[in-house]
Amino acid sequence: MIQLYIPLNFLGVLYREIKQSLTDLDKMFTLMDREREIADVPGALPLALGGAPDVVFDRVSFAYESDRPILQDISFTIPAGKTVAVVGPSGSGKSTLARLMFRFYDVQQGTIRMAGQDIKQVQQATVRQALGIVPQDTVLFNDTVAYNIAYGRPGASQAEIEGAAKAARIHDFIASTPKGYETSVGERGLKLSGGEKQRVAIARTLLKDPPILVFDEATSALDSANERAIQAELAGVSQNKTTLVIAHRLSTVVDAHEILVMEAGRIIERGNHAALLALQGRYASMWALQQSAD
Ligand code: ATP
Repeated sequence: MIQLYIPLNFLGVLYREIKQSLTDLDKMFTLMDREREIADVPGALPLALGGAPDVVFDRVSFAYESDRPILQDISFTIPAGKTVAVVGPSGSGKSTLARLMFRFYDVQQGTIRMAGQDIKQVQQATVRQALGIVPQDTVLFNDTVAYNIAYGRPGASQAEIEGAAKAARIHDFIASTPKGYETSVGERGLKLSGGEKQRVAIARTLLKDPPILVFDEATSALDSANERAIQAELAGVSQNKTTLVIAHRLSTVVDAHEILVMEAGRIIERGNHAALLALQGRYASMWALQQSAD
């Protein structure tokens, strides 16, 4: 009993940590089977996706603890194949939107719909299959770089892995290491830089090829050349995919279909870049501040 309890308890801790940090949601898929907090409704059908789905938040309110509302009356649509960006101060609820899309929690009010289906009513596993995340800080498995990329699609061929690595601009780096794709990475292997790890995550996502993407932009400063390169690669990955970007740098959001400015769990301004600048409100002052800092 004791022996059984310890590993399950450990998984529980790991599960909560991962769920909280959005660091590596893919790891969740295996862990979820062991600790289910969210259950499928009886007779739930798979999420049905014909081509690129739209994602709709319809009057969503949510609290982690009942006495402290976090999101209040949030409505927005990410049209099929478009990008919506969320900006706002730390703690305003940006990552919570992503956690709700993955259905780590159920909303208390309102609905989240993907391709017209309430995600509460469909099989949770199929919602997660439809989603890919490029997290802020990718946690790599203690395994080869090939394994880490192929994790996006188990069974992928070496050629497919290399194709994804090339598109994510990490292939040359991998090829320059003595063991190439067989190089061990992670805690006990070769230490990769933040940018390299993010490229592995991009390659993984390219291989998985999900119709809906979440990018959690890195807050830690990459050098600006690296940052621009990563942004270009992310733009490539998100083409024709329904994408939510949690943005920490406004330069990323300029081309978004819509930008949501959040504060204390509410959307206080919304529109595209030009419209928000013209509004001369919160976004415009954030923009001015960031321009002067660059
Ligand atoms: P950052 O830019 O710093 O990542 P954020 O805008 O993404 O911030 P969230 O992570 O969505 O913010 O958090 C919104 C609020 O919810 C915060 O006040 C946070 O303390 C609270 N919160 C987050 N996770 C939990 C949790 N598991 N239990 C209780 N409160 C939580």
